[in-house]
Amino acid sequence: MKDISPPPGTRAAVIMNLRSMKKIPCFWYVSQLEQMRIALKVITRYELDHSHYFVSNSYGEHFAFFIHRSDPKIESPMYKQMCKEMNCKYIAAGIFHFSINLFNHTGQRSVFVTKFVGKIQDPIPEKILDEMLKACDLYSCGQIYCSDCGKETKKSNLAGSYFAGQYCKECWIGVTGKQKDQGGWKKIEEKETYN
Ligand SMILES: [Zn+2]
Repeated sequence: MKDISPPPGTRAAVIMNLRSMKKIPCFWYVSQLEQMRIALKVITRYELDHSHYFVSNSYGEHFAFFIHRSDPKIESPMYKQMCKEMNCKYIAAGIFHFSINLFNHTGQRSVFVTKFVGKIQDPIPEKILDEMLKACDLYSCGQIYCSDCGKETKKSNLAGSYFAGQYCKECWIGVTGKQKDQGGWKKIEEKETYN
C-alpha cells in the first residue's frame, strides 16, 4: 500500500461539543476516547501526548480537554477523602475519582480544573458540565478564573503565569492564595528554570 502518512508534526484530534456530553458515560472517555487518542497518534505519528481531545463551545472556540480516573487504594488519603465526599464508610465497586482539566486550544493556559466522585457508567454530573461550559464561555468573552483563588479576572488584568496556571494580581504577589505571605507565584516563577 502506498505510504499515505501525513507530514511530520501533523496532528489529529477528537472535537466534541460540550453540550453533547450530557449523556456520555464516564467510561466512554477513559476507554473509547483513550483508544481513539492512541489510534490518532499512530496514524499521524505525532509523538506528544498533547491536546488530542477538544470540546467546543457556542462561540466556536476549542478547548483542550483531559479527564483522568483515579482508583485509590483502600485506606489511602484519597480513598478517605472520597468517603468523606460521599458521606460513606466504604466506596462500592465501579465508583471512581475523576479529575477534569480544560485548557485553551494550545494547551498552554489552564481554563478550568475540577474533580468529582461518581459511577463509571454515569455521565459527567450536569453541574460539572455547566461549570465547564461557563468557564469556556467566560474565556471566549475575555475572562478567566485565577488558577489559585478562582476569581474571575479579565485576561488582560492577569499578573503572571506559571506553566499552564495564570494568576490575578493578588495571588501573583502573595497577598492572597496558596503562596500568601511567601512572595506569591511571582517568587515561584522567578526560581523556575523551565528545564
Ligand atoms: Zn487569585
